[in-house]
Amino acid sequence: MDPSTDLLNHIDGRPVLPSTGDWLDNINPATGRVIQRIPRSGADDVQAAVTAARTALAGPWGAFGIQQRAAMLDRIADGIAARATELVAMESDDQGKPRSLAARVDIPRAEANFRFFAGAIRHEERPCHPMDGHLNYTHRRPAGVCALITPWNLPLYLLTWKAAPALAMGNTLVCKPSELTPRTASMLAEIASEAGLPDGVLNVVHGDGPGSGAPLTSHPDVDLVSFTGGTSTGRLVAAAAAPQFKKLSLELGGKNATIVFEDADLDAAVAGAAMAGFANQGEICLCGSRLLVQRSIYDTFVERLTAKVAALRVGPPEDPATDVGALVSAAHRDKVEGYIQLAQDEGGTLLCGGRRVALPSPHSGGYYLQPTLVGGLPITCRTATEEIFGPVVTVHPFDTEEEAIQMANGVRYGLAGSVWTRDLSRAHRVAQSIESGMVWVNCWLVRDLRVPFGGMKESGVGREGGRWSMDFYSEPRNVCVKL
Ligand code: NAD
Repeated sequence: MDPSTDLLNHIDGRPVLPSTGDWLDNINPATGRVIQRIPRSGADDVQAAVTAARTALAGPWGAFGIQQRAAMLDRIADGIAARATELVAMESDDQGKPRSLAARVDIPRAEANFRFFAGAIRHEERPCHPMDGHLNYTHRRPAGVCALITPWNLPLYLLTWKAAPALAMGNTLVCKPSELTPRTASMLAEIASEAGLPDGVLNVVHGDGPGSGAPLTSHPDVDLVSFTGGTSTGRLVAAAAAPQFKKLSLELGGKNATIVFEDADLDAAVAGAAMAGFANQGEICLCGSRLLVQRSIYDTFVERLTAKVAALRVGPPEDPATDVGALVSAAHRDKVEGYIQLAQDEGGTLLCGGRRVALPSPHSGGYYLQPTLVGGLPITCRTATEEIFGPVVTVHPFDTEEEAIQMANGVRYGLAGSVWTRDLSRAHRVAQSIESGMVWVNCWLVRDLRVPFGGMKESGVGREGGRWSMDFYSEPRNVCVKL
């Protein structure tokens, strides 16, 4: 591999070689080819990044006022917008998602995250609690050095969802992006430096979980850990962070229900269920991977949905006509295929999909799978209760509202869900009965950055979004003044 294409860590404002001298391959899942090498960093690299972040807290950045920080966030947003085409290509080449999706969602959303928190701090009202003879006011201090650890499915989108509010609150950062999708994090560091962010405020350490994620979460000089990833990794992160009482946010896995009642607008529900199931190859934590359909419309609904899903176009990410791109890695493709086999072993019937898709060169080595619908499975089986995180949806009939709620809640996860009905009372009743952090009614993945985002049960701890992010990334403190 040509070393001039190596991706480097970004520590104290500079590109830095890994102290380990060790590298990982960054593979384009759409072709199966190696793009470049990325650092397999170790504890010494984490130490250097944490030291830079700690030092930067006491440097010029610590003296930035609210207006200066807001202006900085806006300049970073401008930088993202200016390099959007490059970022779209990088994100898609790292992850396998259609470029059209990255251009429509991932990159504009990354820009929006910075713009939103720039506006949020400019316009924030802070609490003031007057007493007879005394006045309480609340002010914020940064939490300190923040470790931001992110997954591979929405790389820049999720990193900026953490980095923007963390910077808005005046913190310094050590970012550890997924080793499968490292490049847009490095470009964000470059953009931030170009925008004038002082050295050491935003550091990026590349590498795998045990080598660089673990020493970061247990580092005594890290004050806050914000982690998005799988539930089993989240357990390790929580165990590392808890003894040191670090502030902790965990955004973990999901197995979300899409519930369709007999009175739903069927055109909208079919389109919504297909999008919720297969957007980004089903690799979104919020995807509706368990579809519950009222028995009276089950056959009609499933027939229409099957036709719609079978018509989704699996293809190269750069083709604008592609609906479903490549899965993120060969290992993940194999895992998803394992579940497709398990579904059949558990008695399920493939309604559509289930096979690999072979594309001509240069995509012949890519990791493509057909979007897959499975019927006939008990709702309690492994396929219907474990997170697959790929283009596989199981479909189940139900008779009553109570039964639908019970089925939706019968998993250890509690991240999201959607309800499709024209009955307003039922919509509210069911939405409020689903054990999950977020519920959409007659829509899916509509996001307002002011609302709380996060999971219940084994889908996570804590909430981010709007003022929830501002509280998490700061220490709100009370000052009581005698008048
Ligand atoms: P993962 O848990 O394998 O990895 C996530 C990140 O953690 C990566 O950067 C990885 O290198 C790092 N890591 C791994 N081991 C670590 C350790 N011991 N200590 C510290 N860091 C470690 O998850 P993934 O496969 O990258 O992503 C898929 C998962 O993420 C799915 O379960 C999905 O549901 C979840 N996810 C959740 C949300 C949400 O908002 N709730 C959003 C996106 C993805």
